[in-house]
Amino acid sequence: MSREARTAPRTAIATVCLSGALEDKLPAAAAAGFDGVEIFEPDLVASPMPPGEVRLRCADLGLSIDLYQPFRDLDSVDPERFAASLRRAEHKFGVMEALGTDTVLVCSSVAPDAVADVDLLAEQLHALAERAAARGLRIAYEALAWGRHVNTYDRSWEAVRRADHPALGLCLDSFHILSRGSDPAAIADIPGAKLFILQLADAPHLAMDVLQWSRHHRLFPGQGAFDLPAFLEPVLRAGYAGPLSLEVFNDVFRQADPARAAVDAHRSLLALAEATAARGDAAAPVGDPVAEPAPELRGHAFVELSADGSLAPVLAALGFARTGLHRTKPVERWEQGGARILVNRSGGPVAVAALAVESADPPAAARRATRLSAPRLPRERGPAEADLAAVTAPDDTAVFFCRTGAETDWTGDFVPTGETAAGIGVTGIDHVGLAQPFDHFDEAALFYRTVLGLEPAATGEFAAPFGLVRSRAVADAQRRVRLALTVSLLRRGEWAPGVSEPQYVALAVDDVLAAARAARAAGAPLLAIPDNYYADLDARLALSKERLAAYRDLGVLHEETAEGVYLQVCTEVLGGRVFLALVQRVGDHDGYGWTDAPVRMAAHRRRRLARERVRA
Ligand code: MG
Repeated sequence: MSREARTAPRTAIATVCLSGALEDKLPAAAAAGFDGVEIFEPDLVASPMPPGEVRLRCADLGLSIDLYQPFRDLDSVDPERFAASLRRAEHKFGVMEALGTDTVLVCSSVAPDAVADVDLLAEQLHALAERAAARGLRIAYEALAWGRHVNTYDRSWEAVRRADHPALGLCLDSFHILSRGSDPAAIADIPGAKLFILQLADAPHLAMDVLQWSRHHRLFPGQGAFDLPAFLEPVLRAGYAGPLSLEVFNDVFRQADPARAAVDAHRSLLALAEATAARGDAAAPVGDPVAEPAPELRGHAFVELSADGSLAPVLAALGFARTGLHRTKPVERWEQGGARILVNRSGGPVAVAALAVESADPPAAARRATRLSAPRLPRERGPAEADLAAVTAPDDTAVFFCRTGAETDWTGDFVPTGETAAGIGVTGIDHVGLAQPFDHFDEAALFYRTVLGLEPAATGEFAAPFGLVRSRAVADAQRRVRLALTVSLLRRGEWAPGVSEPQYVALAVDDVLAAARAARAAGAPLLAIPDNYYADLDARLALSKERLAAYRDLGVLHEETAEGVYLQVCTEVLGGRVFLALVQRVGDHDGYGWTDAPVRMAAHRRRRLARERVRA
């Protein structure tokens, strides 16, 4: 059976994942394409809508209510407290009937009076299930990673198994299971009929208290470090037939636009299902909802910079020739080696306006992007007349899929100028660096990775002069397309003198010293790096005197790892936020020069202050 022939999984999202009130969350979930929701009790309690109205609202939106949650601290060694829990449960059952949902999540107790004895726990769960069954309802029992006695899925399964009641099953939550390092493989041995609900969340690797980790740092699948396809596969193999439901508590998402966060969330589930289907286990009955594998990428086709007249002289000094003028738009094509830069003079500050990748099959790439909810680019924004498939990334960068050299390619939109240049040895675009808005970093990383079919590459975190910066690169397996994404670790404060959301284009060269010398001779504004950097480099690496002198002279930054060396020379910031870099990779260096980024950032700021002083 082909991957797509299997039924695509149903999707759901817990209302706690999204910002706002139920009135905001429900339409956001529906618009993003979710089939259902989990109603988080505090959202209902805070809502003016009675449960029956929530039911109607969801029905109008085409949303099922797959779960009501959470019911805490059910069991107790104190019979009176347990009796009180059962009374409380009957009230909640009434709410569920009005909501029209049949399953409630009961999480393992954290209370001091929680039941340790598994037989007594099973007895109490059985008593609750009996009451639920009498009303046609079900109990999904979840092991919290910090539960007092039940904190792993095998313990929760042991209690459910012993309770042996048809109205009692399990809630599996990927965070609780993977955060404790449990092996999910044995989930495949649990009868599928006992898996009532599956909650999915990713998270970064963090060494911290698991409750804090869960409450603040959960992420949508594919945004963190958990191997969720390896988690989902045994769950599906067990025969789980319910929705893939997201339960993500995250400080940033909690204050993000719910409509946008819901799209990000839904995309994460589509990509997870695709990745799980791609594991190729014939026994895992998951459909691939994307069903359009990412076509091979063959490199960067071009980068489009919006710019005023100040950029052209810098490109010329870097050895680029202006080879074409657009037939109808104020756009110039500049080329050198395999590097193409479009300069769009439509106005606006210097910025990366568009990325274009060489795709083996642009229409297929565009179909894939659409299936992953990437917004199509309004046609008039494109730089080309050719009908290039294009979408808009979360950071507002336009992304084009091209096949340069095909019959109707984008280059035909440009009238050749006949201009040529000797060049300085630029061979192509190594990568593009894009700082992301604080609120959209995880969304952007997932977007670029899934829509373009890239894989996670290097990740890093460094102390920049004006705040901590997190970086994450995504690239294709052949390293022909690379993107380096960065973000401030904290929302920028009032004192933010650094370049706001910097962007750069890294140009590949084979000999950075020769290229930088030629560029400087032609008047390129290369960034000066302080002597202290070279004194430190000398102490660390004992480079030859000649090499060090050349570095010092040209402002070369040298990052060395066991795999190789990353050499770069940067220009000053052109306009407010963009610079260009000449990059030479030696050996198998697969990084982005992040260890040198603080030095580069301080140098950029110093240069800008000097220029402002001159102007004043
Ligand atoms: Mg949960």
